[in-house]
Amino acid sequence: MKPRHPYRRQIVLFVLLSVLAIAQLAWWIVFQVGEGARTGRQQRAIWDQQINIARHWATQHALDPAAFQDWLRTAFPDLYLNDAGRVTVTAEAVARLDRISGRRMRMFVSEGLFFTLLMAAGVAYVFWTLRREIDVERRHAVFLLATSHELKTPITSLRLYLDTLQNRDLPPPQRAELLTTMQRDVERLTGQIDRLLQTQSLLDRRRKPALEITDVTEETAVAVEYVRGRFDLSGFDLRVRLQPGVKALTEPQRWQLVVTNLLENAFKYSPGGGTIDVMLDTHREHARLTVTDQGIGLERSQLERIFEQFYRVGSEDTRRTRGTGLGLFLVRRIVESFGGRCRAASRGLGQGAAFEVEIPLIRESV
Ligand code: ADP
Repeated sequence: MKPRHPYRRQIVLFVLLSVLAIAQLAWWIVFQVGEGARTGRQQRAIWDQQINIARHWATQHALDPAAFQDWLRTAFPDLYLNDAGRVTVTAEAVARLDRISGRRMRMFVSEGLFFTLLMAAGVAYVFWTLRREIDVERRHAVFLLATSHELKTPITSLRLYLDTLQNRDLPPPQRAELLTTMQRDVERLTGQIDRLLQTQSLLDRRRKPALEITDVTEETAVAVEYVRGRFDLSGFDLRVRLQPGVKALTEPQRWQLVVTNLLENAFKYSPGGGTIDVMLDTHREHARLTVTDQGIGLERSQLERIFEQFYRVGSEDTRRTRGTGLGLFLVRRIVESFGGRCRAASRGLGQGAAFEVEIPLIRESV
């Protein structure tokens, strides 16, 4: 059986409300058009009655045409006696009625247009919010799955190694190797938990970043070394060019997180190896960090979305790398908290990717 859509009730309610709103608008249009026509008809009926009364009056009082015309002018100003001797409505009165109907119609069209636009905007907004909500919910589920997997894998392997260490008498080199692997697993766990905590604090909009003057060059070098130690570099040509003495206002730990996230991604999403370029320089009063790889690349439509929370490219089956879709979200949030911006570029799938981060520079006065 197909599982029930988690937002079924909201979607049904949204469709019902939209139908109701459209029905209400349609009724309003029909009512207004009918009302306009009715007012016209009423005025014409009044004139018909006035003509009958006038004719009756003229016959009863045996009025000559000139006296009748005078009487009409005071009694029924909308009527006059035409050349053929018939009582009719003046052209002025007909024009006035047309003017009133026209004004009414214009008012009705502009009001109708305004309400339609208002309603369309409301419907579009609700639809957009609902879609976004559904999307976040779906990605959240994927995130939970990925995170629990990320946390479980190192724990399982740690448990296994601990068992081995406890129950077997291993020669020192093998012991050392196991301990190194265990250390890497602990680091992975710490990294993952760190990332979750960072996300939590970055999501708190009230928190003001504690910015300090930072030697961005030094912090970048530390982060690069950290990643270098964690990845198997065979098959890769890691080129690092850092302009010395680049200074900016940052939170150094978080700047390191930006660099490690971008560089780890460059490794993770380059299954075939290749050149990875890390460059730090200055550009138009900004410190600029560029991380370029020759990996799987990105489609144009994904270049913005990858910065969204929990967003990962492709379906769960096609993803061979581990991840939670938080890294780039954190990168953007951090960079923005430093007053900077970041963007991704790629010539397409299989063509590698480039990430560029810019934060305002501090020029030290001499
Ligand atoms: P994670 O790596 O945990 O999935 P990120 O937020 O770091 O999360 O990245 C989001 C998505 O962006 C990744 O799942 C991946 O599909 C894509 N991506 C990130 N970096 C690269 C890169 N260098 N090359 C190609 N795709 C990338």
